[in-house]
Amino acid sequence: MNAKVWLVGAGPGDPELLTLKAVRALNQADVVLIDDLVNPAVLSHCPAARIIPVGKRGGCRSTPQAFIHRLMLRYARQGKCVARLKGGDPCIFGRGGEEAQWLQERGVEVELVNGITAGLAGATQCGIPLTLRGISRGVTLVTAHTQDDSTLNWQALAQGGTTLVVYMGVAKLDEIQAQLLAGGMAAATPVAMIENASLPQQRECRSNLLQMRADALAFKLQSPAILVIGEVAAGVDAALQSQVATG
Ligand code: SAH
Repeated sequence: MNAKVWLVGAGPGDPELLTLKAVRALNQADVVLIDDLVNPAVLSHCPAARIIPVGKRGGCRSTPQAFIHRLMLRYARQGKCVARLKGGDPCIFGRGGEEAQWLQERGVEVELVNGITAGLAGATQCGIPLTLRGISRGVTLVTAHTQDDSTLNWQALAQGGTTLVVYMGVAKLDEIQAQLLAGGMAAATPVAMIENASLPQQRECRSNLLQMRADALAFKLQSPAILVIGEVAAGVDAALQSQVATG
């Protein structure tokens, strides 16, 4: 029996942002391991599957990653079709790469299925184009949260001229703000903070680099949220006007 695990991106929350391939994988799955950030509404595509919550709230606090690895392996070796469903895209801050490698090393076939990552969805839901001709030539996805306390090269990010999309940043707003200002990014740089992107409870807080922390506090910004930092975060009209003003 060929063991197989699908590592599937569930997208940012809106069930309509699921890919057709994700739907097919869910349809075929006997067992679905689901992360916290996945909207349970997508489980309508796998009514017969056994659903196992494995997020932090799913009861596997100690060594969760090792536990999840073993669970996937066990079901795959039983010949079950396993779908591991992750919020957004499995390979954007989702450990998809690690899980795929671990399983492949043990002879399990892995198929990765893209999902729409929260950073892209959040920006689009707020009318923010992450690239804009003449204004933003690129996008950099970063996480403010690291396990080993290593730091990003904030100066390079501040001066790189790309739109920054920050994941897991809510608890690190002060550090992000301080580092980007110290790195030379203009205090007036627009910032959009988008909570629960693509879900009915989505909220967005528009600010700038100087005010972002105070504005987020007043707004009571909660995780999950993404930050979009750069001229485009003010929207197309404002970004184009600022280009005219400075250009
Ligand atoms: N693999 C996921 C990211 C997981 S890391 C993806 O591709 O989207 C978890 C972080 O993702 C959260 O802290 C938050 O920054 C972001 N996130 C996930 N879902 C979100 C949503 N619906 N709205 C805003 N941010 C979200």
